[in-house]
Formats: sequence, C-alpha cells, structure tokens
Amino acid sequence: MLAQGISEEIKKKFIAIVSQENYEDTQTSRLVYSYDATPNYQALPEAVISPRNTREVSEVLKICNEHRIPVVPRGSGTNLCGGTCPVEGGIVLLFKHMNKILEIDEANLTITVQPGVLTGQIIQAVEARGLFYPPDPGSMKISTIAGNINENAGGLRGLKYGVTRDYVIGLETVLPNGDIIRTGGKLAKDVAGYDFTRLFVGSEGTLCVVTEAILKLLPLPETKRTGLALFRDLESAAMAVSKIIANKIIPATLEFLDNATIRVVEDYVKIGLPVHAEAILLIEQDGPPEIVERDMAKITEICMQENAFSVEVAKTEQEAEALRMARRTALSALARLAPTTILEDATVPRSEIARMVKSITEIAGKYNLTICTFGHAGDGNLHPTCPTDIRNREEMDRVEKAFEEIFARAIELGGTITGEHGVGIMKAPYLEMKLGKEGVAAMRAVKAALDPNNIMNPGKIFAGDSRNRVVVSR
Ligand SMILES: Cc1cc2nc3c(=O)[nH]c(=O)nc-3n(C[C@H](O)[C@H](O)[C@H](O)COP(=O)(O)OP(=O)(O)OC[C@H]3O[C@@H](n4cnc5c(N)ncnc54)[C@H](O)[C@@H]3O)c2cc1C
Repeated sequence: MLAQGISEEIKKKFIAIVSQENYEDTQTSRLVYSYDATPNYQALPEAVISPRNTREVSEVLKICNEHRIPVVPRGSGTNLCGGTCPVEGGIVLLFKHMNKILEIDEANLTITVQPGVLTGQIIQAVEARGLFYPPDPGSMKISTIAGNINENAGGLRGLKYGVTRDYVIGLETVLPNGDIIRTGGKLAKDVAGYDFTRLFVGSEGTLCVVTEAILKLLPLPETKRTGLALFRDLESAAMAVSKIIANKIIPATLEFLDNATIRVVEDYVKIGLPVHAEAILLIEQDGPPEIVERDMAKITEICMQENAFSVEVAKTEQEAEALRMARRTALSALARLAPTTILEDATVPRSEIARMVKSITEIAGKYNLTICTFGHAGDGNLHPTCPTDIRNREEMDRVEKAFEEIFARAIELGGTITGEHGVGIMKAPYLEMKLGKEGVAAMRAVKAALDPNNIMNPGKIFAGDSRNRVVVSR
C-alpha cells in the first residue's frame, strides 16, 4: 500500500507526542537530512522528528504504521551504503535527546546506553574505569552506538576482539507496530527462543528502532605495543599476515595500506612514510607485558623472514599514535584527491588477500581508474577506494562496472560484498550475488513478518524495492 504522506492532521499528532521543537519540516532541515556520508544518494524526507524517550518512539511508530509513513532511523549519518538516505520520503528519526550512558555495571561487566551515545564516548567512559569496549570503527569519534549496532560495525581491533555483534548482549527495541520488546540482557547465557539480539544487529534500521543497548565489556589490557612493517611487494605482506596467524599469534590490529594509499597518506600527514614501499602492515598487540613483548619479537622475525625491508616498533605512545594515524587518516587523505570518493569493503578469507589486491589492481587498470586499497588485513576486509567525480557520467559508469567485477571476484574467492559497511541502497543490487535468490527470499520473509507494511527504512537491503526513488544511483 502506498504511503499517505504527512497531512496537517498527522503532523498535529506527531507534535502532540514529541512537542513542537522536536518536529521539523522546514526546507532547511529536510535538506540537511536528505543525504549521508555516501556519495551520490539524496532524497528529501517529509519531516525530521527527535523523540525524547522510548514511549515517544513507540507512539510515533504507531502513527507511521497506521498511515504507511516510511521511518528512517538516523545516528550520525556516517554510514557508507546510503543507509540513511530517505529514498521514500517519510520521517527521519533522530536520537539527539536519547544520548545518555545509563549505567556501567562493573560486577556484570556491562554498559547500558541509549541509541545516540557516540562510540568514542563509550570507549572513554569505560577506559576511565579500567574496562574495555573493543569495537573501534574509524568513525568512532562521531558515529553513534545505534548506528554501529545497525551496521554491525567493525574496527581496527576486529581481528582479535571481533565486531559490534560480539558485544551486544541485550537490546530494547520498538517494533514497527509500536510494541516495545527487550531481547537478551546482562546475561552470559540466554537461549530463550529465537536470538532476536543477533537478528537486530546489522539489520540497518529495517526491522525495528533500537532505543537501548546492553554491551559487554572486558578488562582493559595491561599494555599495548604498535609496530610498522614495510614490504617491497604485496605478496610478501600478505604472506606475513598468514604466517603470523599460523604461528598462533592473534594481533589486536593487523592493518594494510597499498602503495597508492601510502603515497596519498604521506602527502597529507607528512609523518615520514616511505613512499617506495609497496605495502605497509600496521601491527598492534595488547595484553600482559611479557606476552606482548614476546609476540612483537616473533612478529618482527616473521615479517623479516617474509622480506620486510624494515620493521619498526614504537617506543613511546606518541610514536605509536603517529603510526596509527597513517591508517586512520587513509580515507580522509584519499578524499582529497577528487570531488567524489567511492569507498567499498569487499572481504575475502585472509589467505586470499594478495590475490584480491592483485585483482583490484588489474580491474582498476582495465577500466582506467585509480583504485587505492587499504583495510583490515587480519580480517580480509579490504577497502578498495576510487577517487572520482559524480558529475562525470562516463567515468561513473566505468566505476560501477569495476566495482561489480570487484564484488564478483571477492565472492569467487569465498568472500562477500561487504564486511562492515552494510548493504543499504548502495549494495542492494549485489546482494543476490552473495545470497542467491533463495537467500534473499528468506530475508524478505523475515522483513515481511516483522514489518508487514514496509515502513522501516524502505528501499534498503533489497534491490528494486524503492517506489519513488529520488536518487542519483551509482
Ligand atoms: C571516516 C569514516 C570511517 C569509517 N570507518 C568505519 C570502520 O572502521 N568500520 C565500520 O564498520 N564502519 C566505518 N564507517 C562507516 C560508519 O561510520 C559506520 O557504519 C557507523 O556504524 C555508522 O554510525 P552512525 O551513527 O553514523 O549511523 P548512521 O549512518 O546514521 O546509520 C547507520 C544505520 O543504522 C540505522 N540506525 C541508526 N540509528 C538507529 C536506531 N536507533 N535504531 C535502528 N536503526 C538505526 C540507520 O537507519 C542506518 O541504516 C566509517 C565511516 C566514515 C565516514
């Protein structure tokens, strides 16, 4: 059934729930929330609503469900898959009032938070108590926890500690019909029925609105060391990654930058990176000091055996931070090259990294494009990144073809179309490549069961669902 739109009468109902100042429908606010960090997608919502608590979220959703008004929950809009572009209009839901840390429970090692808390605030708050929340997406200073939960965000520490999914143990959510449900809890074990917590993590705002989350914490590792290994060829760097893990060492971080990225990063931050290196591995280990020392010595030995021409372990925290900066600024540095930056996250088994990077270089050459690659080597999660210009339609066609081939190659190597950025609208056309028709049909069945009126973030994940796309598609 088609959306009825927001009539004056419905608008009054929304305002009665959230109050006048939390309902915006000026052209300016609609424009501000018409796009996110993903290049090339834009569509105006009809209104922007900022509920103050779970009850208000529930009341708003009941109205939306009754009148088939699309709902796009939004954190900081840093997603890279067009996930918060309101392609069907409707309302954008903001969580600027629901942004508190509710509790840090040291006995149960949990933190309970509202959806709008920034990831970096969680990390800082728990570290002040000697505790550790490992998921650290590159965007952690600005991304929200609900955005992380809904994209199942990963980070630099994913290899050893896993991703957001591994730390979400309980949720409070509002279903599209306005029902408020709690899943999981402060529990190490819970097998009471279907695991809704896992289903909702990574659901990209298409199944429910997250209004509270219980996250698992760990004790803060005692110490951490950071090193940088430089290689003359890509295969050697990839071989070093496999060999480190085959030696039963799981580093906290094992990040990779190719030559094109090294050059751009050095030009941007000027920290003395060797621009002639074909590949860099940024390596971190944490834990008890004696184990960290032992592992870093072994990692250095392995890298040298695998033809690294230099391995440097930072002596001070400032030196370590400079090395980390090389990786953290990769995207910002690449974004300076051209008006549009297309960043993807094709992922392969880590043993296939060298083959995948080689294929990316060949595909870039075939389509006469610059594609720089960096990413989480330990996770096999690569970020082939193409500086381009959306105004150049001819080049954009080549970009689209090149990425389609990159995704196909990743799948051929046993990988996937996205390791951490989600499907959104951007990768919806490729979902079937990964899941097959039957897989997509099963996912649609789950969506239809929980959201029969398709009000939650419509047009996302499933290709061709959008009814009136106001989008320049990639
Ligand atoms: C510079 C940069 C670096 C990045 N680095 C990483 C990285 O290292 N790892 C990584 O995984 N990603 C990374 N990202 C992508 C992005 O930051 C993550 O996907 C992040 O989780 C998005 O958080 P957000 O608050 O911006 O959410 P948004 O972009 O606002 O939303 C993301 C999704 O969550 C849904 N959503 C938001 N709030 C709710 C809610 N309360 N209830 C239900 N659904 C909701 C939205 O509808 C949308 O589908 C990076 C992005 C940038 C720009």
